[in-house]
Amino acid sequence: MEKFYLTTAIDYVNGAPHIGHAYEKIISDIIVRHFDRRGRDVYFLTGTDEHGVKIQKTAAAAGITPQELCDQNAQKFKDTWALLDIKYDKFGRTTDPVHKKKVQEIFRKLLDKGDIYKHSYEGLYCSGCECFLAEKDLTEDGLCPVHNKAPEHVSEENYFFRLSKYAGRIKEYVKTAVKPEWRVAEVMNFMEDLQDISVSRSTKNVQWGIPVPNDPEQTIYVWIDALSNYYTQVSPEALGSAAPSFTLWPATVHVIGKDILKFHAVYWIGILLAMEEALPESIFAHGWITIDAAKMSKTTGNVIAPADILKSFNLTEPDVLRYYMASAAHAGKDGNYSDDDFKEKVNAHLANGMGNLLNRTLNMTEKYFNGKVGENRDSALLAAANETVSKVNGHFDKFEVAEAAHEIMALVDMTNKYVTDNAPWTLAKDGDMEKCEEVLSTVLKVMETVSYLIAPFCPNIAARMANQLTMGAKIEPVFLRLDSELADKSAKR
Ligand SMILES: [Zn+2]
Repeated sequence: MEKFYLTTAIDYVNGAPHIGHAYEKIISDIIVRHFDRRGRDVYFLTGTDEHGVKIQKTAAAAGITPQELCDQNAQKFKDTWALLDIKYDKFGRTTDPVHKKKVQEIFRKLLDKGDIYKHSYEGLYCSGCECFLAEKDLTEDGLCPVHNKAPEHVSEENYFFRLSKYAGRIKEYVKTAVKPEWRVAEVMNFMEDLQDISVSRSTKNVQWGIPVPNDPEQTIYVWIDALSNYYTQVSPEALGSAAPSFTLWPATVHVIGKDILKFHAVYWIGILLAMEEALPESIFAHGWITIDAAKMSKTTGNVIAPADILKSFNLTEPDVLRYYMASAAHAGKDGNYSDDDFKEKVNAHLANGMGNLLNRTLNMTEKYFNGKVGENRDSALLAAANETVSKVNGHFDKFEVAEAAHEIMALVDMTNKYVTDNAPWTLAKDGDMEKCEEVLSTVLKVMETVSYLIAPFCPNIAARMANQLTMGAKIEPVFLRLDSELADKSAKR
């Protein structure tokens, strides 16, 4: 079997997860579940990024150690992923001892090769971005454009990675591996006049990190530590007896946000080339999720935790939120969350579209045929269902999760229209039981396909659908509509 090894970005543990973090994990989980059903040997890695000045400062302010802060916040991410049925194989943390050891090994190897060298550096450093900024990157007022804050003038001796040496090979890689393809140009643009990058900081400034081997005055910072988790966390040493029977590296796809694409497509690929390791097959950059059309930000306070959405709509399982988030944005584009849109889409697509279609078909099958229908079916609609399977597979091959969801809903709409056009209740009233049976049997068969295709998005709902279709189980609504009590929730924010 062919392997499918997916990684997500590792989230910085300076706070709790919001739906922006959740969006990435939900689409990743759906992609992995999809390829699992297509018979691939899947492996799903997620985790947290735990070093750096911000953690150091936040922990100090809270009067706890950085490790205590990381432990508390990493747990919040794990709890949220459990709530959303994110079925990862491993949750890797950059404070894991094996990761730290492997990072030092990588650093030493590149140092021995001459791809890491010591160099005095002066520059403008943004502690928000955790990187040096060039004058040309600043606003007219000399501020970091992301953080609206003046960068600090930093002068120190650091270790540098010889990124420029690999520019040609990185460009070749970017052309074919970056997805969606329309993002290739911006990465190529970023690579014009590519400079070597600083990969350590003085211990005076950064204590919370992995020490540079044999140099107590320097801390490894940040690229080799964070990016190499995709590699270190699946090393035989890190996995031990939990290792799968197949070889994991290289990754099939790194799923990341568009804001960190250049670090993955350029820095990480350069580091891997220096390590003389195989390169990931693809890097997929998704867009951002806004709330009520405004970018989520802790300072403006419009940050929503996934748990709060589930709670305020009295949802005991995450299926409808998973579906909504996954279909919120076309591949690579930004999407938006709003309570009204959430309720409206879930009701229209899942409750009235998919759930109601199944419920009334099962009811008629029970009423007219005691729950059993023959295998005489409408070949045109069955062909359309097969076509949908191919289209959905094609979208997933390009990590187009929302586009896949839209195809599934298009099949549901087509099937609803088929029921309306053929009106099996009229056929039964007119005594045309043969045709009535054919219509119901066709719809039930199509609903098997729908439950199969929707399962990665809505695993619990799909399991109930499949159960009712195959077991002839007692008919209950597979989907409960969201209630309309939104007042409390809106007031709370
Ligand atoms: Zn910044």
